[in-house]
Parts: sequence; C-alpha cells; structure tokens
Amino acid sequence: MKDRVFAAADVGGTKILLLLAGPQRDLILRRRLFTPPKATPDQVVEVIAGALTGFLEEAGLSPQSLAGLGVCIAALLDFESGVIYESPNLDWHEPVPFRELLAERFSCPVFLENDCNAAILGEASYGAARGHRDAAYITISTGIGAGLYLDGRVYRGSGGFAGEIGHLKRFGKGRRCGCGGYDCLEAWASGKGIARSAGMLWGEGDPGAGTLDTAAVFDRAEAGDPLAGSIIEQAVEDIGISLANLATLLNLSCMVIGGGVARHRPGLVGQIEEKVNYFAVPPAVRVTRVKVVAAALEPEAGAWGMYAAMRR
Ligand SMILES: [Zn+2]
Repeated sequence: MKDRVFAAADVGGTKILLLLAGPQRDLILRRRLFTPPKATPDQVVEVIAGALTGFLEEAGLSPQSLAGLGVCIAALLDFESGVIYESPNLDWHEPVPFRELLAERFSCPVFLENDCNAAILGEASYGAARGHRDAAYITISTGIGAGLYLDGRVYRGSGGFAGEIGHLKRFGKGRRCGCGGYDCLEAWASGKGIARSAGMLWGEGDPGAGTLDTAAVFDRAEAGDPLAGSIIEQAVEDIGISLANLATLLNLSCMVIGGGVARHRPGLVGQIEEKVNYFAVPPAVRVTRVKVVAAALEPEAGAWGMYAAMRR
C-alpha cells in the first residue's frame, strides 16, 4: 500500500481528468469525470472532492495519504493567490477564490494553475520539451493559448496572465473576439475561428455549411477545395507568425503544439514549423535550432504538469 499519493486534475468545460499517482510517477488511477453543465465553482469543487474521496477508498488509501492536490483549469488566474478571474469555458466571469474552496476540503497542500502553464511544465518535465530550458506549449483548440517556460521555470507574468498568445493582434479584419477585443489571433485561427470563417464563406448558398465544423473545413481543404484550403492556409500563417514572434522575442529552443485541432491534424505541426523558420529573426531559428513538435503527453499534459509542480 502506498503511503504518499498525489492527485492531479485538469478541469475542462465538459470533462475533468483526474489522476492519482505515487511518488515515483507511478499511476494508481486515471478517471474522466463530467463537468456539470453550467457548473458553478462550488459544484466543480464538489465533483473533484467527492470523486477523490471515493477513489482513495477504492485504492485502499486513507485520506491522510494524500500528499498534494494540483488542479489546472483553462482560466485567467493568479497562481499565488489561487483566485480565478475569468474562465470563458466555464462561463465564470467574477473572481473566485478557487484554491481556497478546494483547500477547505483537503488537509494536504493544494495548487491551482492555468492549464497551459501546467501543460508546459508537464511537457518540460516528462514530455516533448524535456531537456529544454526555454520552451512554450501552445494549444490550438476551440481557443489558442500558451504556457511559457523560461530559464527552467514557468513564467506567469506580474499578475499571472502571461502567455495569452491567442489575443495577439491584429489578424484579419472586423471580427470580435471572446475577450471583448477585435481581430485577435484566436478569433481567426482557432478551431472556432476557422469554423466562423467557413460559416461566412459558405453560410449563404450552401445548405450544409451551417454545420461545418473545423474538422470539415480541414477535410474539404485536404480534398482540394480551394476556399477551404485558403482558410486553413491563412490560419496556419497567422499561427506561424505569432509563434515566430514568440521565437524572436524569447529565443525559445522548443515549441510544443497541443490541443484538439492540432491532435487530429499531424501535418499541421510541420507547416507551423516552416512558418516559424520563415518569419522569425534568423539567428533565433538558425543559430538556435527551434524544435516545433507535437505534444507528447496529451491529453494529460496539464495533469502531469500539476503532478510535476507538486514534486518540485
Ligand atoms: Zn481576444
């Protein structure tokens, strides 16, 4: 029986991944839970706390054996205070002392981290960015976000909001972003942005277009449809330019690409790499070799990052 175990959870808009592992990264249990629709912070805490209590029991472990709980979530949050300011996926827009709510339910140390920050820590510790001191994890999914790992540690910025690469401007013209601004990268190049572009192009005159999702746009592009091809090409270029700027600014040696859109399109990583090499200042990509690679731990990079945070 293990006497010290660590729990790590990745809270998404529809699902929560929960891992329980021993001190040697030995996996004891992996479960997927459902995030209740329109869940309040208290409800999410309840789901995690309830499940974890049950899982410990199931694994024959006492509640005292839990040596740490690490939770990551797609949100703008402050790691130090544990306050979530904004979580578009969960539709939370008021500050919530989320770590405190979790800590009330457990006697072990509790960590709360942004999901992309957790993912780069996971990839740098055990995955595709292992051995790199300056790296970034970029998720291309419904939205676009990044976690930065600089000089061997997660870089969060003054308030904890660093890495919001999806809101770099300006791309395209005249499109409102979920952040309230206009023409952010993710308004055009994320999964949602690609679907929006398709909807605008085919919305009229194509009865099937209303149901066009990102996957369908990729499929059409791959089948040779020039309009779909141009949407994808533009999205890849916008992402590539943003990542090239990141390489120019930070002189990274590794960029890990994750997220649902990238996961289903393995060719995408190579296309982004070409753009990075083309647009970045030459020494940042020629003297320093920038590795642009697919995430190795997905979809568990965030949870393993939280595990790494507890083991550091
Ligand atoms: Zn934005």
